[in-house]
Amino acid sequence: MSTEVTERQARAVAEAAREREWRLPSFGKELFLGNFRLDLISPQPRLDAAAVDKGEAFLARLREFLVAEVDPLEIERESKIPERVLDGLKQLGALGMKVPETYGGLGLSQVYYNRALALAGVWHASLSTLLSAHQSIGVAQPLMDFGSDEQKRKWLPLVARDHVSAFLLTEPDVGSDPARLGATAVPTDDGYVLNGLKLWATNGAIADVVVVMAQVPDRGITAFVLPYDSPGVTVEHRNAFMGLRGIENSVTRLEDVFVPRENVIGAEGQGLKIALTTLNTGRLALPAICVGTAKWATKVAREFASERVQWGQPIGRHDAVAQKIAFIAASAFGLEAMLDVASRLADDKRSDIRIEAAIAKLYASELGWQVLDELMQVRGGRGYETAESLKARGERPVAVEQQLRDMRINRIFEGSTEIMHLLIAREAVDRHLEVAGEILEGDGDLKDKARVALQAGRFYAKWLPQLAVGEGQKPGAYERFGRLAGHLRFVERSSRKLARSTFYAMSRWQARLEKRQAVLARIVDIGAELFAMASAVVYADTIRSEQPGRADEAAELADLFCKQSRRRVGALFSALWSNDDVDNYALAQRVLEGRYAFLEEGFADPADAR
Ligand SMILES: Cc1cc2nc3c(=O)[nH]c(=O)nc-3n(C[C@H](O)[C@H](O)[C@H](O)COP(=O)(O)OP(=O)(O)OC[C@H]3O[C@@H](n4cnc5c(N)ncnc54)[C@H](O)[C@@H]3O)c2cc1C
Repeated sequence: MSTEVTERQARAVAEAAREREWRLPSFGKELFLGNFRLDLISPQPRLDAAAVDKGEAFLARLREFLVAEVDPLEIERESKIPERVLDGLKQLGALGMKVPETYGGLGLSQVYYNRALALAGVWHASLSTLLSAHQSIGVAQPLMDFGSDEQKRKWLPLVARDHVSAFLLTEPDVGSDPARLGATAVPTDDGYVLNGLKLWATNGAIADVVVVMAQVPDRGITAFVLPYDSPGVTVEHRNAFMGLRGIENSVTRLEDVFVPRENVIGAEGQGLKIALTTLNTGRLALPAICVGTAKWATKVAREFASERVQWGQPIGRHDAVAQKIAFIAASAFGLEAMLDVASRLADDKRSDIRIEAAIAKLYASELGWQVLDELMQVRGGRGYETAESLKARGERPVAVEQQLRDMRINRIFEGSTEIMHLLIAREAVDRHLEVAGEILEGDGDLKDKARVALQAGRFYAKWLPQLAVGEGQKPGAYERFGRLAGHLRFVERSSRKLARSTFYAMSRWQARLEKRQAVLARIVDIGAELFAMASAVVYADTIRSEQPGRADEAAELADLFCKQSRRRVGALFSALWSNDDVDNYALAQRVLEGRYAFLEEGFADPADAR
């Protein structure tokens, strides 16, 4: 395929890779259709007792190892995870957390895999990034989902024990848009010959085996398991970033690299689908790390704001700081709730969680970033100072500036916020496209259109009236949730309002809606807030039944989180119809044309001098 790809072709490639079917119920899909299916997330599935015992035992071992053996300041100073730390992680079995025991892994549940990532990630985010790139997108997960028995028997025991793996999709010209993928895999008698340049592969500088995506001519993007010591594989550069200083991220060149036929994962042309499907649950790794960090932020804010005295009282008593602490604590609870709801569903396997996991990634990376930004403000100058410097002058090495730097990438990788908005919006309007897609797309002849219009008319005649009334209008609805019931009523009402708004947006802009990305983003963000609120209430209820001693505290946090979330929902709904989107877009185009060149005067750009 040529690297000259039109927007339409790029979308067609993404659409072809999308998992189309909905075999299992989806809370998120129903929510966007105005159908608040609380029964799909509440009561939450109970954790399996054996999985809890195994998970807790592993967390205890991991914690002990981190505290005793790993110096996060050393990772930061040396920009490297020391060899002995990597060896220690291997000995703990951390490389095989998600791999089933039958293949030599630990077989942790999603809930405990997440908790382990959060634990490692707060200690140093480079550790959790190494582990999640290795398991969630590296060799393990795609093989568990799509590998043949033979591939599983061969590779899973290795990656579970000591073979570090990586995932090589991105190229200099291929970021969010895989249609341009340039790496090629040309078939030979017994395999393929790979050529290409892969960028930003996490673990790619130290990997033993990788998943690589390449185009098989006429067949499309294909996923291969590639032993990294294959002749022709060269690591050309180790990349350095704003944060995640310890990760081994590579530029890798593939020059006439032979890979045997049996190393194709799934089938030729299935590569992108495999990558996207793997991410459907793999995406929970990243919000897990954000949740850990938000919980840590609560601790840091509490400690500092109660100890630090300025203007006659602890800074946490000043209203401006107290507001931030409340935001940090409530957000940490809301994020943990969303992750717990999605992860238990993942373990339970009775729901399709692709929308919930995608929302968790989007929402946790965005809110998590705000949490850390506010935390830095709470810590003032100490927030901006490095842990190393704090330690050198005798203060506790609280690494807020590092955590902020490390957190920032979460809004970019594994699907940037902008791409997640589009991806979730696509799922949210899926039902509409099914019934009225041909009209909206503007393709097809008039007779076809008339047929589709009739069919769509029947659907909407039934669906729209359903959006007028619901449980959320009944004062006593959801009363088993006590003081939190009102928030669920709000979610129910807002879910219908969101569905109506989506319908209006589709009627108003029709096929052009896909260009109105700011509108789509708001629709998605409202859905995300509603999922977060529902999760907070449901999770507080779970805590009430599983840990009764914490019931009141959980309810207080859930209540405040929902209040904060409601205000965001209100602002998003208003902005749906009252905004400057069109003006913004027009001005941006003029910026691109260079109309405001005078704004760019008065400085010298160091990058231009190089
Ligand atoms: C630290 C780090 C680790 C990484 N690890 C891996 C890895 O292990 N394996 C791997 O394969 N890749 C990896 N990546 C690559 C990462 O997944 C990409 O950076 C990401 O996909 C975004 O691509 P890009 O940076 O080229 O941005 P671009 O695609 O160039 O996008 C630039 C901006 O435009 C926006 N944008 C792009 N297209 C659209 C659109 N259609 N509509 C609206 N907005 C759009 C994006 O959201 C972004 O804001 C890593 C990157 C980093 C920095």
